[in-house]
Amino acid sequence: MEYTIWVTHRDAGPSSGDERVDAERGLLGATRPRSSDEGALVSGPPKTMPAIAVYPGTADSVHLTELPRPVAGPGQALVRVRRVGVCGTDQEIIDAKFGTPPAGTNELVLGHEVLGVVEVIGDGVDDLAVGDLVVATVRRPDGCPACQAGQPDMCVWRAYTERGIIGAHGYMVEQFVDDARYLVPIPPALEPIGVLLEPLTVVEKATRQADLIQRRLASWAPQTALVLGAGPIGLLGTMLLRSRGMQVTTVARRPAPNSAAAIVDACGARYVSSRETPLADLAAGLPSIDLIFEATGVSTLAFAAMGVLGANGVLVLLSLTGGETVAPVPIDAINREFVLGNKVMVGSVNCGDEDFVRGVTDLAHFETLWPGLTARLITDRLNGFSDVSRLASEIEGGIKTVIEFDR
Ligand code: BGC
Repeated sequence: MEYTIWVTHRDAGPSSGDERVDAERGLLGATRPRSSDEGALVSGPPKTMPAIAVYPGTADSVHLTELPRPVAGPGQALVRVRRVGVCGTDQEIIDAKFGTPPAGTNELVLGHEVLGVVEVIGDGVDDLAVGDLVVATVRRPDGCPACQAGQPDMCVWRAYTERGIIGAHGYMVEQFVDDARYLVPIPPALEPIGVLLEPLTVVEKATRQADLIQRRLASWAPQTALVLGAGPIGLLGTMLLRSRGMQVTTVARRPAPNSAAAIVDACGARYVSSRETPLADLAAGLPSIDLIFEATGVSTLAFAAMGVLGANGVLVLLSLTGGETVAPVPIDAINREFVLGNKVMVGSVNCGDEDFVRGVTDLAHFETLWPGLTARLITDRLNGFSDVSRLASEIEGGIKTVIEFDR
């Protein structure tokens, strides 16, 4: 795929509610460079920094832009970005199916899966220190009852912002500032895989939702799970459910051998190609399916999954599908079986703070169970701002692409 790269330079100005430039002091308190008639230039950090952005609504508009260098205010921290993961949502934004720029600009800086290092802490921050590794959360509340109750992931007004996705710049930039409460500390031992925490939280929430819903059952002891999709979410879901002792079958189109199938095998799950075994045949050979995660990005599979869910089971839909596909569905059969089988289908997006906390514990648990396996999800590394044109191109056989910013 070919991408046009626009390089734009904008005047310093507020990039989002969270990022401010101290125009009086200069940036980060540095001495302002003096003009030539004042004598020699005094060195200091440049006023702006590069960032990777799109024009939401315009397909394939990935380009380099400039953002004002942010300054940490009270309660905030300035974070240097080390690496950022690229995910299906970024692809949807690049394809102009999703994404909104912050108010006052037509550009959106991409990136919501970040690992960075705290460089400066503002006044009143006592639970973070300079040098800490952190992952930033994504969604910011809008004041609706759910957000006010501390659950922006369950927002009802849907006027929230999400960094790198909706109404707020993301993390594909040298440095960013955010409130310390949105920064999750990562133990140094997890540095190589910390960038996978945010996608892991998606399946942490899915699992927590299923458990909460199943409190309706006196006998919920899930044994058999199906994971549809073997991208990062499907694989992290597979590992999470395996770490909890479930029998997991992971379904993806591509026949084995491939790198995703190898990861599925290595954590003791079974990999099945849907090209070789139709879903209904697969389900017929399994015990009653208690839990399904749908993470393929293909809506037809969400409906196919409804047809194979076991009695009292839960199907969690996780794919953001940007299209407008219309397809015939066996509605009588699905409706009848859902009623007779007390089945539940639930959508799940984003995550709660507790999912980040559990995710950190689970990443460490994965390392104990399967040393080095999680890192194998990172199959491609792009080089900071110089590989921008490769950002959106499909990498053959790849699982997770990350961009390294701090080499
Ligand atoms: C992110 C979530 C976000 C969702 C919808 C996903 O890729 O992981 O944090 O809520 O996209 O924008």
